[in-house]
Amino acid sequence: MSAEGNSAVGEHGVSKRSKGVNRKKSPQGESSTRAAGTPAKPSAKTVPGTAAKPSAAAASGTPVKPSAKAAPETAPEPPARTVKRTAPKSVKKTPEKKTPADTAKTAPAKKAPPEAGKTPARTVSAKAAAKTPGKVPAGTGSAKSVAGAARPESRLALVRRARRINRELAEVYPYAHPELDFRNPFELLVATVLSAQTTDLRVNQTTPALFARYPTPEDLAAAVPEEVEELIRPTGFFRAKTKSIMGLSAALRDDFGGEVPGRLEDLVKLPGVGRKTAFVVLGNVFGVPGITVDTHFMRLSRRFGWTVSDDPVKIEAEIAEIFPRSDWTMLSHRVIFHGRRICHARRPACGACPITHLCPAYGEGETDPEKARKLLKYEKGGFPGQRLNPPADYPGRPAPPAPGTAPGTAPGAAPGAE
Ligand code: SF4
Repeated sequence: MSAEGNSAVGEHGVSKRSKGVNRKKSPQGESSTRAAGTPAKPSAKTVPGTAAKPSAAAASGTPVKPSAKAAPETAPEPPARTVKRTAPKSVKKTPEKKTPADTAKTAPAKKAPPEAGKTPARTVSAKAAAKTPGKVPAGTGSAKSVAGAARPESRLALVRRARRINRELAEVYPYAHPELDFRNPFELLVATVLSAQTTDLRVNQTTPALFARYPTPEDLAAAVPEEVEELIRPTGFFRAKTKSIMGLSAALRDDFGGEVPGRLEDLVKLPGVGRKTAFVVLGNVFGVPGITVDTHFMRLSRRFGWTVSDDPVKIEAEIAEIFPRSDWTMLSHRVIFHGRRICHARRPACGACPITHLCPAYGEGETDPEKARKLLKYEKGGFPGQRLNPPADYPGRPAPPAPGTAPGTAPGAAPGAE
């Protein structure tokens, strides 16, 4: 498994932790200096609690200070009375009312679990430092801005951090690419429509039979719907998807001469084609930059603090303001790669993540390095990719065909199918 990547990852994660620890030491230092420099003040502090000390001072024979200490001698009495009066009242009330409702209110307040995406960086770094002491990573200059930021991150700092994430992901995934198998724009368009609500792997295991039977828009537009439904059944929602891919095939045949158009405004008019699908096609076959806001991109954008929105269109617009247009397509691939391999939806492998020092959501997942490594789905760790026919520079293994299914035969039903 990604020995290289993981080791580098662990190192990054440690830096911010050590800084967190150093901060915690400072309060201790302050208290020690007070004790050494100002010996007289402690007596004033202990006055309200202890009435015995003033009498001891008087016994020592100091004549001047009694006036200052005389007040403290009388002071302890009122607090003692108030304690006696108030204590019984509160004691009487608590057993009557607190049992059912108050415990429910106070319990979560004490635990105070960190909100998603708002994991306090200080506590995170402190935890991390405790778990992996001694490792000092390189290049953690921005760790301060993320890990130690008490104030909201400035716009400039956010942009710098976001672009640095993109650069570091480019080093981790230099082979990032679209993970749908395709040989031409038509196949990519159809495969992208089929990828809704399922995995690219499932689509890649399904489309060989589909495209063997219907290789062109004209063929698919003239198909028998029930036959198409059977072929794409493993991708789920197969009836609606059949309507979409047959509808878009008819539109390509009738309106675009059987060719996939290279303009956003034309693509989004096709049945079943939204901005996400359009940008996948534009970015990967026409060279037009586009941001692909799929489920992985949405989740990671929020974890990175690039957006707080749930709306794909708003997210796309916000990300477009952060990155130059030329970065959009590859940024999308890298973020999606990272979401599939390390920053999973349910259990992100934070302890094996190479960008912990740039991520405000560090700690949302597993932080123990050993446990986190077991969560990775990383091609360099021997896992197969999503594509049956990956690019030549792909360092992992190709994905296998669907179990028990050879290309050209109708595969069985999949979970989540209609
Ligand atoms: S795994 Fe995800 S949430 Fe955890 S540090 Fe990495 S990018 Fe952030």
